[in-house]
Amino acid sequence: AEIHEALFVTKENAKDAVLVKDLLQKAEDHALLKVGTSGAPVPPQSGSEYVQGLTVLEAATLLNVDSANKLLMQLLFDTAFRIKERIYGNRIVLFAPLYVGSYCVNQCTYCSFRASNHAAPRGTLSNDQLVREVEALQRQGHRRLLLVAGESPKYSFEQTLEALQIVSQVRTEPCGGIRRINVEIPTLSVSDFRRLKATNCVGTYTLFHETYHRETYRRVHPAGPKSDYDYRLLTMDRAQTAGVDDVGIGALFGLYDYRFEVLGMLQHAQHLDQTYGAGPHTVSIPRIQPALGAPDSLNGGPNPVSDADFMKLVAVLRCAVPYTGMILSTRENPQTRKMLLHLGVSQMSAGSKTDVGSYSKEDKKANVLPEKCQEESQDMLAQFTLQDHRAMDEIVHDLMEDGFVPSWCTACYRKGRTGEAFMKIAKKGDIHNYCHPNGLLTLQEYLIDYASERTRALGEKVVQQESETIGSERAKQAYERKLKRINAGEHDLY
Ligand code: SAM
Ligand code: SF4
Repeated sequence: AEIHEALFVTKENAKDAVLVKDLLQKAEDHALLKVGTSGAPVPPQSGSEYVQGLTVLEAATLLNVDSANKLLMQLLFDTAFRIKERIYGNRIVLFAPLYVGSYCVNQCTYCSFRASNHAAPRGTLSNDQLVREVEALQRQGHRRLLLVAGESPKYSFEQTLEALQIVSQVRTEPCGGIRRINVEIPTLSVSDFRRLKATNCVGTYTLFHETYHRETYRRVHPAGPKSDYDYRLLTMDRAQTAGVDDVGIGALFGLYDYRFEVLGMLQHAQHLDQTYGAGPHTVSIPRIQPALGAPDSLNGGPNPVSDADFMKLVAVLRCAVPYTGMILSTRENPQTRKMLLHLGVSQMSAGSKTDVGSYSKEDKKANVLPEKCQEESQDMLAQFTLQDHRAMDEIVHDLMEDGFVPSWCTACYRKGRTGEAFMKIAKKGDIHNYCHPNGLLTLQEYLIDYASERTRALGEKVVQQESETIGSERAKQAYERKLKRINAGEHDLY
């Protein structure tokens, strides 16, 4: 009710260009923190005021601005871009999803994995297949994975725990193992979250609420454990209670009014920050794509979001939660992804497959699977249609051509800068000092070990140019020492 009220009362304000400009100025002032007399950023106050650049009412005003209003849209986009540059620089963190099971007991009307979709062949990865999948991903240069599963006793939480151990141990030459495993697995009890935490190998726990609108939620989740709105909504509270402090939230755009979903995510983020001292580490912005046997996946879903509105909502999110990473998947096509990178996205998937077992199928160097496994993999089905089919190397090349620095950096997580500790750094505007040199080191490693000739030639220029932008002399010297060691064949320096 509060969200509907916010959208209603701000309708007229959204037509007032002066007021909209003031709001954008406020968002920018908030993110471009004041610099004190010593030259260091003034430490921000704690609490939600600083996690959120805009209140729910302010964000509602921006969401109500007509996407066809070119002048105001340009102002919004420019503001979002400056905020992104200030906090994240030009780095884009790359990862790949790893689907381990397509069985599911739920009935989500937009997903082809839903239980009653009998046309869908199902599968889970055996331990052998899992190793081959990870090796295939490592051979593309991936260092960060997102482990994804449906909800089913055929792929139990125990299997997920075992899979995490396996993934963390797989090594291929020359670059070694996976350095960060995020998970997107069904919701857990506090005690299972504790077991997840105890594996010591999980980065971010991610779960999308899909739609924050209760009635729509009820309609699109007609059966199965996921139909319990409140239990799903409290997932991140259980995670925090169990000490899993790095969490990612999201909404599936196309189910209900996109403005409502953005405000729902903001309220969710505010609640987590106020209660646990850390907002979500990331927000995800999946938009519905066609999926076989999933009636609500057609034509962008029951409430399709146009490209113009999608760009607006990404820019509003960047202004509203400037310190929260934003993840974009290969659900979007390369052109849309390129535009959204300028508006606030900070992480994206690359070379993704959403059908179980398909990375190793395509990997020329993969060992031949036992016959039975091969048959299973070939029959398995993708969860939904992807729109960006570029290989990792092509994405790395295109990103650099567009002025971005691809990064596989995992230093914050491995140095324990997560949850509240990470937010403190983020709020001081300090991410850039840590992440820029570390990101460049991972790029250099990729160029040496995995890049095509064309990508390497461009990458060497990018590394050279970007090295010159490292601010402090001390940071620069430390970076140059590590770069030399990487050029001499060492790995994983940060
Ligand atoms: N099964 C778990 C769950 O539902 O939370 C996690 C994995 S599920 C495979 C990952 C996400 O894919 C879902 O949360 C949903 O937002 C998204 N998804 C499902 N169907 C989709 C579709 N047709 N288009 C785009 N995204 C979709
Ligand atoms: Fe199952 Fe997740 Fe698909 Fe729903 S979205 S049917 S829970 S895999």
